[in-house]
Amino acid sequence: MSTFKAPKGTYDLIPPYSAKYLAVRDAISGPLRLSGYGYVETPGFEDVDLFARGVGESTDIVTKEMYTLTTKGGANLALRPEGTASVLRAALEANLHKAGGLPVKLWYSGSYYRYERPQKGRYRHFSQVGAEAIGAEDPALDAELIILADQAYRTLGLRNFRILLNSLGDQECRPVYREALQTFLRGLDLDEETVRRAEINPLRVLDDKRPEVQKQLAGAPMLRAYLCDACKAYHEEVRALITAAGVTFEDDEKLVRGLDYYTRTTFEFVHDGLGSQSAVGGGGRYDGLSEMIGGPALPSVGWALGVDRTVLALEAEGVELDIPAATSVFAVALGEAKPVLFGLVTELRKSGIAADISYGGKGLKGAMKDANRSGARFAVVAGDRDLAEGVVQLKDMESGEQSPVALAEVAEVLRAKLA
Ligand code: ATP
Ligand code: MG
Repeated sequence: MSTFKAPKGTYDLIPPYSAKYLAVRDAISGPLRLSGYGYVETPGFEDVDLFARGVGESTDIVTKEMYTLTTKGGANLALRPEGTASVLRAALEANLHKAGGLPVKLWYSGSYYRYERPQKGRYRHFSQVGAEAIGAEDPALDAELIILADQAYRTLGLRNFRILLNSLGDQECRPVYREALQTFLRGLDLDEETVRRAEINPLRVLDDKRPEVQKQLAGAPMLRAYLCDACKAYHEEVRALITAAGVTFEDDEKLVRGLDYYTRTTFEFVHDGLGSQSAVGGGGRYDGLSEMIGGPALPSVGWALGVDRTVLALEAEGVELDIPAATSVFAVALGEAKPVLFGLVTELRKSGIAADISYGGKGLKGAMKDANRSGARFAVVAGDRDLAEGVVQLKDMESGEQSPVALAEVAEVLRAKLA
């Protein structure tokens, strides 16, 4: 062990476990790549004000969870706590919204940082795959994203997740509701911080998980009753499109999300095997965000799915991903056979076969141990006597059968066997 450890709240992804993370990222991005979403990558840090304005001054993310730093040049930066603000910033900066048709559809995958209290499913460094559809107001777009996330989870083999769906209204109906909710909250017995939150962002009080708060919220006015006709119609259409796609969801009129920028459609994916960190992903419509960060009006919708919690959900359900062995063919070179088998391995790799060879001048026993450990389907073993006869020994690692094959033909034979 070295003197150093991974920082608190972080962990390393190491093989073979790390293969699961790659598989999850692939499974989540696969449906997006088939649906017109282009890959976007933004820096790991941004101007701190992008998040302060974009995510919201009163959110937990901005008030408590951001890693901020001042550079030697005096710039105030933050490690990115989430993806949406950065992706929208990048799209605006590149004028993607002017370049072609709308919506601009983008997907991303990467690391995010939040200074949180570490626990199972909650880390200070975690990874997300996300998608954003920028610049169009169309219920089909909201539905598309929910359907694609559902498809991703099902492809992975997840079953015990639920989709919670709500509408948060828009700039017309939400202020009226906000007033009504604030009036109600002012009559409750709340702690100082919650009273402050009720004044800045009363909807988020509904999201308070503490039983003593939840009990008092029993008679709170619900946004559903205040939705304007346009929001109602929009929400109905989203629901109808998802239903028609065969995706089941639950209406959750208490669902509000931690970020300030959401309007209309909001949703969360929860998994019942994860205890208190039950949200595996979430998202919604954010029609006002572009203007909040200095851009034109660009109604948009998106989601982010947490890779770490998705892996935990797979484990909770006992799903084994079908991850192919890293190596198909393992070469064991004895005596002077090394250059020949090294050449064979290079040739196999070029033709797309995962191949490896024993290193470090091991004898037959040690090298066969390596072959076993690699999980290879076949071993190719050769020593001086084999080479003199122009053959190698091809061993089937499952049956244990071994037979000589002409050196000149072995690559072709392996390609055929592995096809
Ligand atoms: P929570 O309510 O659990 O704090 P959140 O609302 O802050 O979640 P989002 O900002 O919507 O989460 O992020 C989307 C997804 O990213 C979450 O559903 C979760 O899977 C993942 N995620 C968020 N924060 C963390 C974290 N600290 N550690 C691991 N995964 C996280
Ligand atoms: Mg959070």
